[in-house]
Amino acid sequence: MPTGKVAVFTASGIPYEIEELPTPEIEPGGVLIKNTHAVICGSDLHGWRGDGDGPQRAIRRVPGHEFTGVVHSMGDGVDSDSVRRPLKEGDRVAFPFFNPCNRCYWCIRGEHHACPHRGRNNHQGLDAYPYCDGGMADYYYLPQGHYVYKVPDELPTDAVPPVNCALSQVMFGLERADMDFGDTVVIQGAGGLGTFATAVAAEKGASKVIVIDGQQPRLDLVMKCGATDTISIMDYPTPEARVERVRELTHGVGADIVVEVVGIAAATLEGLDMVRTNGKYVDIGNIGGGSIEFAARKIINNQTQWLGTTHYNPWIVEAALQFLVRVQDRMPIANVISHKYPLEEINDAFEFAEWHGREGGSTANRVALTM
Ligand SMILES: [Zn+2]
Ligand SMILES: [Zn+2]
Repeated sequence: MPTGKVAVFTASGIPYEIEELPTPEIEPGGVLIKNTHAVICGSDLHGWRGDGDGPQRAIRRVPGHEFTGVVHSMGDGVDSDSVRRPLKEGDRVAFPFFNPCNRCYWCIRGEHHACPHRGRNNHQGLDAYPYCDGGMADYYYLPQGHYVYKVPDELPTDAVPPVNCALSQVMFGLERADMDFGDTVVIQGAGGLGTFATAVAAEKGASKVIVIDGQQPRLDLVMKCGATDTISIMDYPTPEARVERVRELTHGVGADIVVEVVGIAAATLEGLDMVRTNGKYVDIGNIGGGSIEFAARKIINNQTQWLGTTHYNPWIVEAALQFLVRVQDRMPIANVISHKYPLEEINDAFEFAEWHGREGGSTANRVALTM
């Protein structure tokens, strides 16, 4: 059986190891992807650092979820993508990094993002089928019932890795918030997700897109992606000052929609105060742990619609690809990779990504592993 390389994560503080594992035998309806690029996402860095007070999964696993590749081989019954475009070996594809089951209480309601069976194989361990399977690996296996989309010819491959995490995630968040034309939108955090959220909110017709961050290069970037205003944490150092500034910019009303893509628990507390009465709070970033405390009546009195959001419906990926085709000449969000490392140098790549992030690295200059 042919084999492929995987980067193995054991625990925070222990370097990744490269192992060689068998590639899976492809079942009917399955597709084996030869990965080409995997970007180091903020959440990969959280896991690598061991941030937060969330449960530390001790299991050996393959990191990486912002990735793309080409069709390596297809199982019986597969000759097209999920919208029936012909598919052949070598075609560039994008796909969710999780697999809804298509037959459960949630899936039959179209709530694939909440399917309890959507977990990734590569989080289950490496000693069982399909073995060589993950983002930071040579191969990724799409089982029967998967979703896969051909990458439009107009898009450079470097644009594709963040499609299945950052971009699809924020598109789905704003869809869940049922954003209206003319809404005012606040984005907390101008990292990868925040930059995409800015672009999507602007293109969906926001009257204001107000972005908050502590790094000036990131704030400069979002201004090229449709932001109307930025709030620098350097200029507004306290939560109260930032909430007050949002009120000023929204004529005393507060924002229709606030999107949290920071990943720090305190940001949620602050962001809730920016939502107008009966407005919406889309909470995406706080996946790493951390706690907040506030008066129970806060949400009720403000009639806040608080939308915790993780993962997305798989058809968002196609919309995300088409979105990039349309805006790539106007917004600097398509060529997002500035540094590439071969998979074997994953430990150097993470060290560099960590330093680069602190220096203001943003969605326009991310670090990728190549396979
Ligand atoms: Zn991600
Ligand atoms: Zn399901």
